[in-house]
Amino acid sequence: MARISPQIRQEILDKTDFLSVYQEHVHLQKKGGSYWGLCPFHSEKTPSFSVSVDTGLFYCFGCHKGGSVIQFLMDVDKLTYTEAMEELAHRSGVQIHFEESERAGEAEKERQALFELYDRLSKTFHWFLVNHASGRKGLEVLYKRGLTDVLIEKFSLGYAPANRQWLYSFLKAKGYSDNFLRHSGLFSKNDQYWPLFADRIMFPISDVKGRVIAFGGRAMDQEGPKYINSPETAVFKKQDTLFALSQALDSIKSADEAIVCEGYMDVLSFHAAGMTNAVAPLGTAFTSHQAMALRRRASRVVLCFDSDEAGLHAAERACSIAAGVGLETSVLLPEGGKDASEILEKKGEGELTRMSKNTINAGHFLLTRASQLFDISTMEGKAKAVSFLFPFLDALDSDVQRQGYIREIGKALGVGAHAVEMDYAKAKVSGINRSRNAPSSNS
Ligand SMILES: [Zn+2]
Repeated sequence: MARISPQIRQEILDKTDFLSVYQEHVHLQKKGGSYWGLCPFHSEKTPSFSVSVDTGLFYCFGCHKGGSVIQFLMDVDKLTYTEAMEELAHRSGVQIHFEESERAGEAEKERQALFELYDRLSKTFHWFLVNHASGRKGLEVLYKRGLTDVLIEKFSLGYAPANRQWLYSFLKAKGYSDNFLRHSGLFSKNDQYWPLFADRIMFPISDVKGRVIAFGGRAMDQEGPKYINSPETAVFKKQDTLFALSQALDSIKSADEAIVCEGYMDVLSFHAAGMTNAVAPLGTAFTSHQAMALRRRASRVVLCFDSDEAGLHAAERACSIAAGVGLETSVLLPEGGKDASEILEKKGEGELTRMSKNTINAGHFLLTRASQLFDISTMEGKAKAVSFLFPFLDALDSDVQRQGYIREIGKALGVGAHAVEMDYAKAKVSGINRSRNAPSSNS
């Protein structure tokens, strides 16, 4: 742990507007001597997260997490103690300086070295894309998809050279050890000289502070998988990370809404069309951790997944996950193209902007899906359709909302609301299949 004198620590805490730190992550309301909000550490629908006005300490009566504003920053932004103190010192205008030897132990050194490596590499990949002849074909792919130089710059897109000898010798020349490179997430597990990314368009993946922690790579030709992502490392956890969150953060906060789409190119297409609040999970399903990361910054989310069957199924799951953390959820179905990227390429910005207005609320989307997936002219089909909707019903914020949705289900499927309610109550007792469709309640 870094050495910061107790005096400096106290000075930083005294000068910190702790409420504003909490409020960046939690929507707080004052009640008595405390502020209350939805806990950013566990999934809940009524506020049990509190901040004491007098002490500046936080405590959650649901998951029992608690502590100082330093601990809060460490947990909520996944920072080390040193990073959290740096952040608070910066906010409060107190000068602190760490000597290299004062940094924490080996683990902390490795994290810092990884940040430095990924930063250096993303700049080098970017240079290849923009300035080197070999990057030209990559640029052309991006231009063809309707992306501009400004956007390529903003996301620091890059190109990984086709020569598979290049990366290892480049990094060795910079003085990196074999042992460090083995854990860097850049080389094959089976062959430490074999780079995972070669002849690919590179998408740097950043943490919420904008530090590059991983890459996504898109193939130029049809050889091998179209997209690959970095494996997890000491600084990269897939389920916690959203592509473009750092670039989209301000827009998400000011719009009080985030767009979640399927891939990197979709995110870039939305940003190209001026919808700069778009993010994406990393080639996997949308997780409740990612949903929580959004809920700390906004109250609404729009899901825009591909219009194929896999995309629709992903959207179904994501509805329950987003609603389950208390996000007001709606769905945007791509029209006139498979996804946002195809719409931008074929129809242009105007069409993507126009389409983005046609959202439907998650409940309505799921009802439509239920009537497509099951034969609701039969009693058996109706029963299946109803139970298909249970995970979402379960994820809803309040009993009032739930009652309203039960009435809607009854009307749409031609069954009595009371029957829906009875079936739901029975399913609750035997356990709704949460693993398939809903987030766990304690993530
Ligand atoms: Zn909690």
